[in-house]
Amino acid sequence: MNAKEQALREEICLIGRLMHQKQYIDGSAGNISARLDDNRILSTPSGLAKGFMSPDQLIIVDMDANRIDEPNDANRHLVPTSEVLMHLECYRQREDVQGVVHAHPQTAVALTLVGYDFRRCIIPETVIILGMVPTTPYATPASAENRDAIRNLIAEHDAIMLAHHGSLTVAGSVWDAYLRLETLEHSAKTLFMAAQLGGPRELPAHQVQKLLGAAPPARAGAPGRPGAFC
Ligand SMILES: [Zn+2]
Repeated sequence: MNAKEQALREEICLIGRLMHQKQYIDGSAGNISARLDDNRILSTPSGLAKGFMSPDQLIIVDMDANRIDEPNDANRHLVPTSEVLMHLECYRQREDVQGVVHAHPQTAVALTLVGYDFRRCIIPETVIILGMVPTTPYATPASAENRDAIRNLIAEHDAIMLAHHGSLTVAGSVWDAYLRLETLEHSAKTLFMAAQLGGPRELPAHQVQKLLGAAPPARAGAPGRPGAFC
């Protein structure tokens, strides 16, 4: 095992602990992965509490979701995360993606339960960090349906809500994918509070133009097309 793989194993365990502490996941929910190279993805296994993993419990899969590492006896029974197909779809479509995080952030998920549309320009920093956040149609958790649900969205978006289920965030590192999850849930809490106080107001169009001109979000769908963006 090289130093990069060891560092990623430790980083993924740290992210799992933070997700548990911040209540973005419960029980054995959620999954985290990072790209090791063109054909190897380091991933959390199915069924373990992600807040209490050790680095040796992470497993390596190829781009067809086959386990390809050589586990010790204690970890031989572990299998890839049930959402592995969704993770692989992100890596397959996006060469820039080095990390993927799936969680169940309560406020953001609650907003999908009532049909809230996140694709609005309300909080400037959220617009810059996440871009527009679409919500997929409902898909059965832990099935190939989630891969299909994000298939037409992941090329253009770094954060996606899975209706009635959870979040998906991607980035150029697994740590940044986690930070996008933090931003997503923090924004959702703010929007929820604003809704209780009478409803959030959108930024004026000229302010959105200024915002995008100053620091356009990394993904397409935004720069130069603010009309389509918000
Ligand atoms: Zn889930």
